[in-house]
Amino acid sequence: MEHNLYIYNTLSRKKEQFVPLHEDKVGMYVCGPTVYSDVHLGNCRTFISFDLIYRYLLYLGYKVRYVRNITDAGHLEGDRDEGDDKFAKKAKLEQLEPMEIVQKYTVGFHEILNIFNTFSPSIEPTATGHISEQIEIVKKILESGYAYEKAGTIYFDVEKYNEDFQYGILTNRKLEDLLEGTRELGGQDEKKGRLDFALWIKAKPETLMQWPSPWGWGFPGWHLECSAMSSKYLGNTFDIHGGGMDLQATHHTNEIAQSQACNHVAPAKYWMHTNMLTVNGVRMSKSAGNGFLPKELFTGSHPLLEKGYSPMTVRFFMAQSHYRSTLDFSNEALQASEKGFSRLIEGYARLQKLSALGSSSIETGGLRAKCEEAMNDDFNSPIMISHLFDALRAINLVHDGKETISATDLEELKSVFKTFIEDVLGLKSETEASTGNEAYKKAIDLLLNMRLEAKQNKDWTTSDKIRNELTALGFEIKDTKDGFEWKI
Ligand code: AMP
Ligand code: ZN
Repeated sequence: MEHNLYIYNTLSRKKEQFVPLHEDKVGMYVCGPTVYSDVHLGNCRTFISFDLIYRYLLYLGYKVRYVRNITDAGHLEGDRDEGDDKFAKKAKLEQLEPMEIVQKYTVGFHEILNIFNTFSPSIEPTATGHISEQIEIVKKILESGYAYEKAGTIYFDVEKYNEDFQYGILTNRKLEDLLEGTRELGGQDEKKGRLDFALWIKAKPETLMQWPSPWGWGFPGWHLECSAMSSKYLGNTFDIHGGGMDLQATHHTNEIAQSQACNHVAPAKYWMHTNMLTVNGVRMSKSAGNGFLPKELFTGSHPLLEKGYSPMTVRFFMAQSHYRSTLDFSNEALQASEKGFSRLIEGYARLQKLSALGSSSIETGGLRAKCEEAMNDDFNSPIMISHLFDALRAINLVHDGKETISATDLEELKSVFKTFIEDVLGLKSETEASTGNEAYKKAIDLLLNMRLEAKQNKDWTTSDKIRNELTALGFEIKDTKDGFEWKI
């Protein structure tokens, strides 16, 4: 299947026509979250960007196998094998088992991505579920001579690898330059080379998560899991590998080296990187202390926020910038997106009610082609959205009776709007949900008022029945002097 889709490939630093390895099938691997704390809005930006990409590939008719992992072991605080294990540290802090930490934040991550209306990936594998696959890779790299053992820890030999391949091709850096940027090895270090990184790390007796291996008890290095899980589910070479830009220099660079050393082929054909969400120009991150939680954004409870914004406003705000541009977070920008989103949704609703009349006096026929052209140009959602707004102006003219639209053109327009707003941008009207919510609240109030009436009439059977059945459904009902209060 060939489309005119062009993707910016970090490897070649240019836009390339997208040609999948296997006809109409696409294999896409995206680095998922490290589930030791709540995801912040910056993380969400990356996952929402890949959701848009996934949705557009589906729209084009590809059968996509989308793999996004969960990092639930092996991620140390420093990217280069130093510092504490993030899970163990958090587990001690919260007095929980590391796997309780993993469960808690995995559930939270899924909840948030559901609220943002993202599709689940086809496979969501975990690092702890693939320890034996990771050990197999370490064995193969050792056999190929690109790794060495030091007291139960296995290091990747970057300089040896660089004799045969180019380490750092992803960021186009030469080994000498990379070496210059790293600190000298101290006397304590077990590593041979400054850029060497751990594939497998020897556990200390107190290490909470450890597994047996041919080199003793230990745990995998962070980069290894992605090599193991991508090749297991997508093959040694697959179409697209994605993640945030901050992963290029170390995580993805090391992943390419591992996969190449193990399988003797480059892992992915197209490497895609999303740009960062920033706050006043500073990358949003937990360490910078500017990491908004999505829930704080929805409720407006963060000190930097003037008010709350709905999930779809936030999703629209993200789609209004290209995934490779930085996106700066501000109250003004969000307010503008809030207005834009409601204009789009109201216009879409108006379109549903429009009637056709005679022939078209407005030009609408090219809208699908224009939207596709924008998305085919490296998923340019802001341009696609601007085409939808242009069409909205025409729709409003028809609505006001100043222009006309034929039945065929109207059907096509409705179909293009549905496709791009709902299927590709993943936006949905929020009024429906909130009306549903209101109606539900009113229905409970109605029942409890009937119970009050029954009580006044000393009809205890009815009043108890209402109370008991609502309680069984999980409602908490409190009698007050003015009547009642309830919550769920
Ligand atoms: P982590 O949980 O830290 O492994 O990150 C999960 C994903 O979020 C990675 O792909 C990161 O590149 C991405 N990410 C982290 N911070 C930001 C940010 N400020 N903006 C966009 N993506 C980010
Ligand atoms: Zn990864």
